Amino acid sequence: MNQLQLPSTMQAMVLNQPKTRLVLSTLPLPTPTDGQVLIKLIACGICRTDLHVVDGELTQPKLPLIPGHEIVGRVVGLGNGVTGLQPGDIVGVPWLGYTCGICRYCKAGHENLCENALFTGYTLDGGYAEYTVAFAKFCFPIDAQYANPSGAPLLCAGLIGYRSWSMIPPSAENIGLYGFGAAAHILIQVARYQGKRVYAFTRDGDKKGQAFALKMGAEWAGDSSALPPVLLDAAILFAPVGSLVPLALKATDKGGSVICGGIHMSDIPSFSYDLLWGERILRSVANLTRKDGWEFLALAPKVPVRAETTLFPLEQANEALDTLRSGKIEGAAVLTM
Ligand SMILES: [Zn+2]
Ligand SMILES: [Zn+2]
Repeated sequence: MNQLQLPSTMQAMVLNQPKTRLVLSTLPLPTPTDGQVLIKLIACGICRTDLHVVDGELTQPKLPLIPGHEIVGRVVGLGNGVTGLQPGDIVGVPWLGYTCGICRYCKAGHENLCENALFTGYTLDGGYAEYTVAFAKFCFPIDAQYANPSGAPLLCAGLIGYRSWSMIPPSAENIGLYGFGAAAHILIQVARYQGKRVYAFTRDGDKKGQAFALKMGAEWAGDSSALPPVLLDAAILFAPVGSLVPLALKATDKGGSVICGGIHMSDIPSFSYDLLWGERILRSVANLTRKDGWEFLALAPKVPVRAETTLFPLEQANEALDTLRSGKIEGAAVLTM
C-alpha cells in the first residue's frame, strides 16, 4: 500500500450489539483491500438510518460495527488497483458502499436494488472513526467548499432527498415535505432554486420546527395532521411514521405522488381506497445510485446548498444520536474528528 505517514491505531465509536450504547474504542488502522482507499475523516453526519441500526430496527448489521455513512474525508492511502483517486483528494462516502455489477438489478441500471450490495455503516464499517476504508468506485469527489463538516449531510440527507425529489414529475409545483429534518432542510434549497413551493409538515405542535421551515423558505409550515392551504402535486415523507401515508395522500391532488424517503417506517394504517384513487402514486425510495450522487453533488454548489449543522466530537456520538432521536436537532447532526 502506498501511504503517507500514518498512526497504527485509531479511535472509533463501535456498536457491539444493537440496542446498546456505542463504545469508544482504540482499533488498528484499517488496511484498504483491492480497489479501496484509506480515508482520514474530516466529519461524519448522523443519519436517522444510524438510529434504525443502533436501535435494532434494521436487522443483521455487521458486528461489531462502526456506524456512519455521511463521510467527508481525505484520501491518505490506496489499495491495489485504485484508479482515479490520489492521496490528498477530498472524497465523500455514501450509504451505497459496493454493488456487484452483475446481478439483474445492476445490469438494468438499478444498482440501488443490487442483490449483493454492501452498505457503509451497516454491512461495512463506516465513519464514526478517525479513519475508514471505502471502495474507490463508490467514493464521490467533493467540491472544495464542502471539505468540512457542513459537507457531510449532503452524502445521505442530500442524496436520498435528491433521489426522492427526482421521482417527482418536473411539472409539480406544490411539494409537501413531511418531517423537516436534515433531508428536508437541504431539499427545500433545491426546491426553491427550481422555483417550487414547499409546504413543510412537522410533528404536531413543533412550533420551533415550523419556524425553522419558514426561515428556510417554506411557503407554509404546519402540523402533520393538518391539511395544507392548497392540494399538493407531490409529497415526500422523511419522517419514519406510517400514519403519515394516508394523511399525505389526503393532502395530495389527483395524479400526484407520495414518496416515502426513509429506509424504515412504522406500520401504515389501512385507509380508504378513495385516498389512492385518482391515479395517485405511492412509492418508496431505496438507497441511491452513483448517478444520483454525481447529479446531486454537481447541483449542490450551484444552488448553493448550505447545511445547517450541530457539531459533536466523535466521542459524543451517543449523545448526538439521543438528540436526533428526541427530534431536537435543527438541520443535521455531524460528528467531527
Ligand atoms: Zn448487483
Ligand atoms: Zn442515511
